[in-house]
Amino acid sequence: MPADDFDVIVVGGGPGGSTAAALTALEGHRVLLLDKEVFPRYQIGESLLPATVHGICAMLGVREQIERAGFVRKRGGTFSWGSDPEPWTFAFAASERMAGPTSYAYQVERCRFDQLLLNNAERLGVEVRQGHRAVGVLRESGRIGEVRYVDPGGAERTAAARFVVDASGHGSRLHHEVGGTREYSPFFRNLALFGYFVGGHRMPAPNSGNILCVAFPDGWFWYIPLSATLTSVGAVVKREAAARVQGDPDRAYAALIGDCPMIARFLRTARRAAEPPYDRLRVRKDYSYDRSVLWAPGMVLVGDAACFIDPVFSSGVHLATYSALLAARSINSVLAGLDEDRCFAEFEARYRREFALFRDFLIAFYDQRTDAQTYFQQARRITEHRGTRLEAFVDLVAGVSAGDFSREPPEGVLDQAALGAVLAEGANLQLRGMLGEAAGLEPPMFPGGLVPSLNGRRWVVPERTEV
Ligand SMILES: Cc1cc2nc3c(=O)[nH]c(=O)nc-3n(C[C@H](O)[C@H](O)[C@H](O)COP(=O)(O)OP(=O)(O)OC[C@H]3O[C@@H](n4cnc5c(N)ncnc54)[C@H](O)[C@@H]3O)c2cc1C
Repeated sequence: MPADDFDVIVVGGGPGGSTAAALTALEGHRVLLLDKEVFPRYQIGESLLPATVHGICAMLGVREQIERAGFVRKRGGTFSWGSDPEPWTFAFAASERMAGPTSYAYQVERCRFDQLLLNNAERLGVEVRQGHRAVGVLRESGRIGEVRYVDPGGAERTAAARFVVDASGHGSRLHHEVGGTREYSPFFRNLALFGYFVGGHRMPAPNSGNILCVAFPDGWFWYIPLSATLTSVGAVVKREAAARVQGDPDRAYAALIGDCPMIARFLRTARRAAEPPYDRLRVRKDYSYDRSVLWAPGMVLVGDAACFIDPVFSSGVHLATYSALLAARSINSVLAGLDEDRCFAEFEARYRREFALFRDFLIAFYDQRTDAQTYFQQARRITEHRGTRLEAFVDLVAGVSAGDFSREPPEGVLDQAALGAVLAEGANLQLRGMLGEAAGLEPPMFPGGLVPSLNGRRWVVPERTEV
C-alpha cells in the first residue's frame, strides 16, 4: 500500500473516533486518525453510562486502565425535578439488568478520558496524527474515497481510504458530504452555560459520585463531581431565557446559580476554578439535532457529527461510542466481503432506534416538569408499580417494567418494546465486553437483520457464525 493509502480514515479523536479506529484496527485494518487538536484537549460531556465503561471500554481493552485512572464512581443520578419538594435518587443497581459488577459508571475529566481512548487506539495500531485538520473529501465514481486535510505546517494533503468515518463532533465540516440535512430539534432549543468550581458540597455516601440535576424556573442545572474537590456546574436554559446570558456571561451564570437555591447552597463555600481548562465559562447552543442521512458509499457519520440530544440523561458519549461500534462492525464486515447496503442498513436501524429512545424519553421527562408532574409519578401510574415512584422510574429507564404493563402507554411516552430491546442491547454490550466470545451470539434486533459476531466487531448473517 502507498504511504497515504489506508483501509479506514477516521476524522476526529473523541470517544466516537477513537472507538471506531480501534475496533477497525483490531480486525487488522490499516487505520489513520486525524484530529485538528493536540491532546489533551477540553470537551464537555463528563458523565458516563455503564454501557460505555463496562461494554465499549472492555471491548477496546481499556477498561482496567479506566478503572485505575481514579475517576469518580457514579452509582446513579439524583434529581430535584418536578413537583416533589425533595430530591430523588436512582441507582443503576436498582435495575436487574445492571445489578452486580456493572452497576456504576464514571464522571470523567474528558481531557483525560479522551486521551486514554486515543492512546489506546494508537497502541492497537492506529496511526494518529494530531494537529491535522480535515477540510473535505473527494469522490471517485460516486464513492467517497479520499480525505483532504491540512497538516500542522499549513500544507494541504490528501489520504485515500476504502472508508471514511466522520467523528468530528458537532462542529463537523464534513457531515453534509453523505447527503441529506441536519435537522435541529424544535423541542430542545436550549442553551447551556457551564463552568467549574473547587470545594463544592458533596452529597452523602453512597451517592456522592452521582450526577445531580436540579430544575429551576428558567431550566435546570447539572452538578457533576469530577474529583474530591472539582465540580462541573452547568445551566441549561430555555431559549426564551437566553437573553440573560448575552452580554456578561459571568454575571448571568452567578445570577442563574442564585435562582437555584439547591445549587447555590452546594456552592456556598466553593470558588470558581482558576486553572485551565476549567478557569472559564463556556456556552453551547443548537446541540440537539438529528440527520436525515447517516452514511453514503465509502463514508459514515458517528457521534455528534451525526446526532445528539439534550444532556439530561448523559447519553452523548454512549451514543458516540455505540454508533462507532455499529459503524466499525459494518466497515469490518464490508471489508470481509459482506454487502455494504445490508451492513449499513443494520448500522442505521440500530443507531436510529437508540437515538429515538433517548429523544422520546427526554420529551416525556421535560413535559412532566412543565406540567408540574414528575416523570416518575407518571412512570408509577403507567406501570402500576407497587414500589415507590422512584423504583417505578428506575424500572422504566432500565426497561424491566415492560412485562408489568396492563394497558398501552399514553401517546408520546416511550414505546416499551423498543425501550426493552435497546436496553437489552446495552446489557448485551456489557456482557460481551466482560465475557468476550463466551457471551455467544445475540438474536437479531430486527426481522431479517444481522447479528454481532462472537468477538462483537463484525456482523454475521444469522445461522452462520462466521462471515
Ligand atoms: C451542554 C452539554 C453537556 C453534555 N453533557 C454530557 C454528559 O454529561 N455526558 C455525555 O455522555 N455527553 C454529554 N454531552 C455530549 C458530549 O459532549 C458529546 O456527545 C460527545 O463528546 C460526542 O463525542 P464525539 O466523539 O462524537 O465528538 P467529540 O468529543 O466532539 O470529538 C470530536 C473530535 O473531532 C475533532 N475535530 C473536529 N473537527 C475536525 C476536523 N475538521 N479535522 C480533524 N479533527 C476534527 C475535535 O478536535 C474533537 O477532538 C453534552 C453535550 C453538551 C452540549
